[in-house]
Amino acid sequence: MRFASIAGRAWLVTPDGKGADIEQASDGRFSADPQSVFDGWHALGEWAAGLSDEAFEPVDPTAFELPVPRPRQVFAIGANYRAHAVEAGVAPPEQPVIFTKFPSCLTGPGDAVAIRHERVDWEVELVVVMGREARGVSAADAWHYVAGFAAGQDISERAIQRLGPMPQFSMAKSLPGFGPVGPVVVTPDEFVNPDDLELGCAVNGVTMQSSRTSDFIFSVGELVEYISGLVPMYPGDLIFTGTPEGVGATRKPPIFLKPGDVLTTWVEGIGTLTNPIIKEQAQ
Ligand code: ZN
Repeated sequence: MRFASIAGRAWLVTPDGKGADIEQASDGRFSADPQSVFDGWHALGEWAAGLSDEAFEPVDPTAFELPVPRPRQVFAIGANYRAHAVEAGVAPPEQPVIFTKFPSCLTGPGDAVAIRHERVDWEVELVVVMGREARGVSAADAWHYVAGFAAGQDISERAIQRLGPMPQFSMAKSLPGFGPVGPVVVTPDEFVNPDDLELGCAVNGVTMQSSRTSDFIFSVGELVEYISGLVPMYPGDLIFTGTPEGVGATRKPPIFLKPGDVLTTWVEGIGTLTNPIIKEQAQ
């Protein structure tokens, strides 16, 4: 099942450009609000499996918006790819390294990202969307609690990240627009192996990152087990699962995003985000 937000409403969509407005097609059983959909995700899946082809009409994929507009919590993982830990000069962590991206940073798959800093970097990430309240879930059971995956960018301002004696991950990665997510949420059963997905990003068409989630240090199941063992996780919560090698800051010389660039971000089987980088106007 593939889920999208169009004009602020929840839609089921297909890879070949069709969709069904969930509230209309279900005669009001399910809400039109994209965020509320995750509260009843499993019932939605059962209903959607029985939906006839006539319920679907052509849709414009360029109209897809941020599919998870108001998550209660956004978890993000540092140094979760072996090759990225090497380029960052850190030992592979023995437990997941967790920070948050404040939800106000989230933005849609085609939205411009306005920047006013000099050291803005890219980080392609697989984003997990939770589909059920999770407390103390084991890694083996974790897939029952996952609604699906989206592509994401953990855009990061490296100077703010390194201000002061301790890393400022949460603030440096939560400036407005620093969390593109989308274009759709895809359920894990749509993938041959949901633990091995190709992902990458490009700046102005030049590939900067290209890897596979099989390079994870902690799998999706292990992340859900670790986080839900510490705090409750709610439907619609997000996990940015970490970025592979190829960020701009560790290049020699470093490369950073600048106004006029176009950042494209993809995950196999999900789709592509296309986010123009623009100069933030003085307030
Ligand atoms: Zn990241």
